[in-house]
Amino acid sequence: MESAWLLPDLDDPTTGGFWEACARGELVVQACGACGAWRMPPRPMCPSCQSTTTTWVPTSGRGRIWSFIVPHPPLLPAFAEKAPYNAIVVELEEDPSIRFAGNLVTHADGEIDEIDPATIAIGEPVRVVFHRIDDVVLPRWARA
Ligand SMILES: [Zn+2]
Repeated sequence: MESAWLLPDLDDPTTGGFWEACARGELVVQACGACGAWRMPPRPMCPSCQSTTTTWVPTSGRGRIWSFIVPHPPLLPAFAEKAPYNAIVVELEEDPSIRFAGNLVTHADGEIDEIDPATIAIGEPVRVVFHRIDDVVLPRWARA
């Protein structure tokens, strides 16, 4: 069954390793197999040295809110039902140039509209939590 949510392709050769790690409860970052530079989102070639070899590096799963928005209509039906909700961008604790998009929730299986967007602050410490939708395990963020 096709989900009403926008879900990733788990078989994509470039990003599949990220989703496999999420399913294990681990937040990873793609690293260049030649020079070691980290990059997010995953992509086939290193922008620093043009190598196409890659590895996946475990992270702390901790970060800070770098930015956030409160999406407004028009929204896809599954998201319109939840509005107002938040979408945040998190900078990773060990490398703030690595950023993840997601939602701030109260706990792993919380709803994306449970937190009043007026209470969200840039710089707030957060930690990753993992939420399953169909076959996909998505990283989300909870206050640390
Ligand atoms: Zn490289």
